[in-house]
Amino acid sequence: MLAPLLAARLPAAAGLPSSESGYYFLEGGLPPAGAGVPAAAPAALTTPAPFDVNAIRRDFPVLQETVHGRPLIWLDSAATTQKPQAVIDRLAYFYQHENSNIHRAAHALAAKATDAYEAAREKVRRFLSVPSVDEIVFVRGATEAINLVAQSWGRKNIAADDEIIITWLEHHANIVPWQQLCTETGARLRVVPVDDRGQLRLDAYESLLGPKTKLVAFSHVSNALGTITPARQIIEMARRYDARVLVDGAQAVSHLPTDVKALDCDWYVLSGHKLFAPTGIGVLFGKADVLEAMPPWQGGGNMIRDVTFEKTEYQPPPARFEAGTGSIADAVGLGAAIDYVERIGLENIGRYEQELLGHATRALARIPGLRLIGLAPERAAVLSFVLDGIRSEDVGAALDREGIAVRAGHHCAQPILRRFGLESTVRASLAFYNTFAEIDALAAALLRIRSGTPLVT
Ligand code: PLP
Repeated sequence: MLAPLLAARLPAAAGLPSSESGYYFLEGGLPPAGAGVPAAAPAALTTPAPFDVNAIRRDFPVLQETVHGRPLIWLDSAATTQKPQAVIDRLAYFYQHENSNIHRAAHALAAKATDAYEAAREKVRRFLSVPSVDEIVFVRGATEAINLVAQSWGRKNIAADDEIIITWLEHHANIVPWQQLCTETGARLRVVPVDDRGQLRLDAYESLLGPKTKLVAFSHVSNALGTITPARQIIEMARRYDARVLVDGAQAVSHLPTDVKALDCDWYVLSGHKLFAPTGIGVLFGKADVLEAMPPWQGGGNMIRDVTFEKTEYQPPPARFEAGTGSIADAVGLGAAIDYVERIGLENIGRYEQELLGHATRALARIPGLRLIGLAPERAAVLSFVLDGIRSEDVGAALDREGIAVRAGHHCAQPILRRFGLESTVRASLAFYNTFAEIDALAAALLRIRSGTPLVT
């Protein structure tokens, strides 16, 4: 076997995969569990169990930054999460020791890079409780995953008069691709309304479902309001009409344990950068039979079995949907982020974040003139609000001067804000590295902004 011979000549400090059975692409099989993980982990994880927020914070270098001379308070995790040292080190390690293109070359670095990339796919599979790695497609992010489904499955399966159901809660990424598909095919977009607390109205959903319903696409967690949708129930109801279901998990996977098999959806999408991983990498889960029946959406290298000028034979999934060179190191970084999150445990994360959210909701509700938008009982990590008489953008800028990073605007979810009569809100979004003290600092800053009291430095 070539690979172990090559491996034996390379220094142990390179952190070679521990596989004795050879490399993925040379052997043609799947890598063993743990393949692609450096033998000597580049970063020591300092986080002990049980949950210790101060230890966790030490894992995130950017949280030690100051902004405008004040300690950074990062309350913009719904836009993107910060990265733990373990992920940063894993990326650096890849470029220092493993960098190569994957799948197609008979040399040691190609083998290492391929092993690392495929090991990341296995980690995603396990993280989402998916039966097979062949059901995991690497893409750029949730947006690309949804566009892939709309253009591949959608163009093949949606026709005039068919109906696609989405909800008022959706991010533009889960509206625009379906709208484009409807324009192209003559299908109709139907939208499930929400009540005044930001919960989906399942009675209205029931009445929208029918024999014309071909697809239901909805967010597991709303990015603008934090509403956790009753995903299992929504899927069960869609199944009664044989509709396919896509779940947008971009805002869910960093807060809730996700069991895609139990959900029984056809597709589940996520963005790595919202899960403590790099930007430029995301995941499309698709059920094996569903992916198998989908045509490729982009053509090029990697996705083909054979090419002549007359015709091309395609690879089976997932390679069929991964044309060209993907974000190899970022996929490996996503694997490291999943390892990190699993070390802490999503149950622990969820419990802590719920306490933080409860504290934040109570603290903000006490501020005169502050209106919280979206108060669904089932909510994750998001506080959307407006301050009477002060533009959201001005609130965001004033908080920034105090080192507090929030988002002010429409959060790429204009329809849901307009449902509440607004064009923009301030959104503070939490992750497990935030503290109660940071929430108190936010509340104190909002009180100052509200009363026009300048910050004393
Ligand atoms: N879906 C939801 C619910 C989101 O919050 C986002 C991003 O904010 C997206 C989809 C799009 O994610 P990305 O920009 O990473 O593709």
